[in-house]
Amino acid sequence: MSNKDNSSSFPIHTLDLKFLGIEGAIACYLIPHEEGAVLVECGPGSTVPVLQAHLRSAGFAAREISDVLLTHIHLDHAGASGWLAQHGARIHVHPIGAPHLIEPERLLSSAERIYGDQMELLWGEFFPVPESSLVIHQDREFIEINNLVFQAIETPGHASHHFAYLFNSACFTGDIGGVRMAGTKHVRLPMPPPEFHLESWKQSIEVLRNENISCILPTHFGMFTDPEWHFAALMDGLNDVEIWMEEFMPKKLPPNEFRAEFLRWESERARKDHINNQISDVYHAANPPEISILGIQRYWQKHRHTG
Ligand SMILES: [Zn+2]
Repeated sequence: MSNKDNSSSFPIHTLDLKFLGIEGAIACYLIPHEEGAVLVECGPGSTVPVLQAHLRSAGFAAREISDVLLTHIHLDHAGASGWLAQHGARIHVHPIGAPHLIEPERLLSSAERIYGDQMELLWGEFFPVPESSLVIHQDREFIEINNLVFQAIETPGHASHHFAYLFNSACFTGDIGGVRMAGTKHVRLPMPPPEFHLESWKQSIEVLRNENISCILPTHFGMFTDPEWHFAALMDGLNDVEIWMEEFMPKKLPPNEFRAEFLRWESERARKDHINNQISDVYHAANPPEISILGIQRYWQKHRHTG
């Protein structure tokens, strides 16, 4: 099922890719135009059958997807891009992400280091994107697709190659807008290795706050019409994790204790925001704490370790 929203002059359909059978974890967004439709994000290879079913019920064949706008190339956002390119879609991406779609060996081996034997289950098959299918953009570039106009906004912090896309007064925030499940007032931070960078993330939020945005659409998950509250909560989260890191990183805890402290911090924040266990599971599917633990350690070593 897709939710249709008409708050901008063009309808945006939220497609739930039912990642691992879980509702509300990974979205992609479908926007019809005069000669087909655009997708913002396309989800992993493992959810291609669900994506196909959504396209069918919206009245589109895969070959009618003219363009896919990727916020970044992590597999939960971009895994199906090669498959869509095979059906004729142009794939829009940041210049730093582009080479890894053409030759995905490094992307896949770095994911494999994190996910090990879960790779196939989580992400399915990844097809390379031919160079001729790629459209590479620079910061602030406008992207015109038939009667639709998007603008790419460089927003590093979660990944160095991350764009948010403005579309009228809507903003597709990828992962730089954090992770927030439908119906909640609770924003979590996906902080993966190797590029989680606290300071650039804060700057990216300021960049977005200066835009005229009436609703945000994070990939995890759906549309929210309170961008001011959302960006403030996101900034709080970043300030909070910084305080946490400054307290816990110098302690050099053994891995299991470090993990337990991080989980304690995360669940305490969730408790304050009235998040129950069931919703917590969706947060974990979209944003596993194990990944953020690795990302925090990498960030600290690279940028804050003073010897
Ligand atoms: Zn990501």
